[in-house]
This record gives sequence, C-alpha cells and structure tokens, in this order.
Amino acid sequence: EVMEALESNLKELAVDASVKKTGCLGPCARGPVVMIEPEGLFYEGVHPEDCREICETLYKAGKNGTVDPIEHLLHYNRAEQRSVVKVDEVDFYRGQAKIVLSRCGVVDPDSIEDAIACGAYTALAKVLNEEDADKVIDTLKISGLRGRGGAGFPTWLKWDFTRKSPGEEKYVLCNADEGDPGAFMDRSVLEGDPHALIEGMAIAGKTIGADHGVVYVRAEYPLAVKRLGHAIEAAKESGLLGENILGSEFNFDIEIRMGSGAFVCGEETALIASIEGKRGEPRPRPPFPANKGLWGKPSLLNNVETYANIAGIIKKGAEWYASFGTTESKGTKVFALAGAISTSGLVEVPIGTCLGEVVFDIGGGIPGGKEFKAAQIGGPSGGCIPREYLNVPLDYASLQELGAIMGSGGLIVMDDDTCMVDVARYFLEFVQEESCGKCTPCRVGTKRMLEILERICNGKGEMEDIDRLIELGTKIKETALCGLGQTAPNPVLSTIRHFRHEYEEHIRDHH
Ligand code: SF4
Repeated sequence: EVMEALESNLKELAVDASVKKTGCLGPCARGPVVMIEPEGLFYEGVHPEDCREICETLYKAGKNGTVDPIEHLLHYNRAEQRSVVKVDEVDFYRGQAKIVLSRCGVVDPDSIEDAIACGAYTALAKVLNEEDADKVIDTLKISGLRGRGGAGFPTWLKWDFTRKSPGEEKYVLCNADEGDPGAFMDRSVLEGDPHALIEGMAIAGKTIGADHGVVYVRAEYPLAVKRLGHAIEAAKESGLLGENILGSEFNFDIEIRMGSGAFVCGEETALIASIEGKRGEPRPRPPFPANKGLWGKPSLLNNVETYANIAGIIKKGAEWYASFGTTESKGTKVFALAGAISTSGLVEVPIGTCLGEVVFDIGGGIPGGKEFKAAQIGGPSGGCIPREYLNVPLDYASLQELGAIMGSGGLIVMDDDTCMVDVARYFLEFVQEESCGKCTPCRVGTKRMLEILERICNGKGEMEDIDRLIELGTKIKETALCGLGQTAPNPVLSTIRHFRHEYEEHIRDHH
C-alpha cells in the first residue's frame, strides 16, 4: 500500500523519481521503512497517508533549487514529530558490517539487472575465467570462513573433501530449512538477495566438479521460494545458470525442493533423505555426505549464509574478509534479533562484537524501562547468556565456554519479567515434539526431562529434580544419534547453570 501510494503521488506530481521495492532493510520492528536516495533519508513506520507529504517535499525540492530537501524533511519531521533521519544517523546501522546482507535492502530481489549492476556474478566470472579449484579452496582457507549453519566447520575443508571424493556425479546442496524459533536470517537473504545464494552455489559447483544443485527450503517461506524461483529462472535466461555458463564449458543447474517444516530435516543426513523422498530421519555418520550424500553421491552441504559469503570473498580477497572478526573466528555473522528488544530485526556484525553492543547500541536496549536478564543464542540447540556476560564477544569459542553456541544466529532477548524455567520448558517442549523418535535417548529422554520440568513449573517438583535434569541431560547429549538430540538439553542445562536459584525458588515456594 505504501509503495502504491508513493508511485501514484510521484506520478500525479510529475516528480522525477522512481520507487524501488527491496528486501529487508534490517529494522523489522520499525517497518514499513522508506529510504530516499541519494539524500539518504530514512523514514520509519510509514503509512500510505504519509506518502503525499513525502512526495510533495520531493516535488518542491525539484521545482525550487533553493529548497534543501534534507533541511526541509528534517524541519517537517520536527513539526510533525515523525521519525525521519539521515540514514547514517540511524543507530541500528552503526557497528554493523554488511557482507552477506550487502545487497539486501538495496536491490530489487526480482531484478537480475539490479543485482548485476550492484556486482552480482562478477565473482563467478572470475572463477570461470581466472581461477582453478585449488585457488578457490586456498582463498577460502585463508579467509577463515566457517559454516554459518551452526556447527562452524571450516568451509574450505568441506569443499576440499567433496572435491577430492571420487565420483563422476556430485551435488551442491543448500540447507534453507531454517527451523529455529525466532530465526529469520536465511529467509531474509532469500527474500532480499537470492542471487547471492545462486552465485555462491555455482562457484561451489565449479570448484567441487558438480553440475547440479538443490536448495532445500521450508514450504512455510512462500515469498522466499517465489523470489528464489524467479531468480533461478532469470539467471538461466541470462546465461548465468544452465549450460555453458558465460560461454565456458561449465554447466550448472539449481532446483528447489520444499520441506514441510520438520526441525530434524535441518540435520544433513535427514535433509538428504527428505530430498530423496524418504522419511526425514538422520542416519549414523560416517559415511559423511562428502563421500555418500544425495543419491549416494558425494555432496557438499552448506547453509544459505555460508554460500552468500562466497562471492564477496572471491571478489575482494581472503585477506579483506579475514580482516573482519577475531583471530580465531573471522568474517561477519548475521543475527536475527528478537524478543524483549526495542528494535528487533536483522543485523550483521563482525564476529567478536560484544553481546551488549548488539543488544544496546544496535538493538536499542530493552523497552518499557525493564532490565536485560538474558539472551538465548543459537535457538533450541543453544544456551542462555546472563547479564553478567554482556561483554562476551560473540565468537565460537567464547560462547561455547558459557555453555551456549553461535548456532545459526537466532538471538532472543529476555527482560527481567521472564521466568527462565519457563524458557527452558518452552525450548524443550519444542525439541521434544520435533524429535524424530529414531533413537531412545532423544525420544524417551527429552520426554522425561519435559515431565520433570512441568512438574517443577506446576509446583510439584522436588530439589532432587534439578540433579535429575542435569544427569539425564548430560546422558542424552552423550548418546543421542544426531545433533538435535545432542543439543536438545542445552537450554535446560544452561538455565540451571546460570539461574539455578530460579529452579530452587519454584520448588521451595510451592512447598
Ligand atoms: Fe531422531 Fe532425536 Fe535420535 Fe536425532 S537424536 S535421530 S532427532 S530421535
């Protein structure tokens, strides 16, 4: 509606300006947002009825050379108490470094011309014309890129294993089955800049020797599926996918397979089984997908964010990429900020940025005069970080030390009204329901843990229950077959570690 109102008003006033639709600009909580370029003005919470005034100001600015559009709009802002500022003054963008999201909110995701004008596919051209597989893998190695899906495995190593794995036929797979509650990083990339994924997958195909790619994406993401499908078609028509890409001998095609929302299908072997039309259940590894993946052939599996990093690294160089982040964890990470935070949305920061900086400087802190209590990082597989660790750098090692994980990038902020036992119960209920049931520790163990937690929440718990939860949780972690079960107890164990007194209070107060 805002877009239509802008278009019709500009037309009526015959203003020489056009309206471009983009993907997510970041601060979701403040939408719909409108940016005016090249002035760099940022409007938030725009309603269709605001558009006349915005367009009239642009009209006056164009008609009368003495009107400074920025001054005028800022004046207008003060008079009407509307929220409009220069984009470089928006706190939300300060401290961010956009590599994965560099074109999100900038390009029209349905226009391949727009993506190309902003640099898409130049890295693919470079790989086809100038670089062999050794060079690409070397670049990835120096860049320090690690898988952004959760496990953080070095990307170059995975690519190298698959490349060296014997076999004529290989596959490039993308995990876009983002299932963590509160996470929307991959979705935003697919909706905002699908060509970043396509280019990354095509480079992977050339490097490992595959001519077919599959994106496994949630059916619950209809807009993402639509835009990705459209982008794949446009890339084929432009000679950037299909046969003899850019006049070379390289052929590569991508198809989309939709998942039906089973959390376990984010696990690599379950994802592959699901693409094959089988029940989405994990199987023991080895063999790893690099040796025996889709249809039994060597397959490379990364998530959306990992692939979306590739073109930037190839284009600007490994050293450039490695200059972001810490010595151990390089590059940037996209986080989905949600929960009790003033500006929820999508942020990309150098790895190693402090939690407090993300929550307060970028996210604007906790609304309603409440205090920060904890942040759940890494979704149901992750853990919570309490207030005393607000200065923890968000990197793989530091988070692990605190019993949390980077995960795929979900970051849920909780204020002092939150009951941590209830948070643990919520996440455990989620994984218990999503357990595929194949192995006993996860199927039965998470159920028993949930019963104990419910007992505590209902005032029927006893002090020994806390130790029972720890014992059971530790055993499940050690013995479950796949990542889902191995991480399922994390939210319970980490809330007991940092907020044991809340469990004790629940038990004591009811006796
Ligand atoms: Fe299935 Fe859970 Fe076992 Fe994974 S750990 S295979 S989800 S039962």
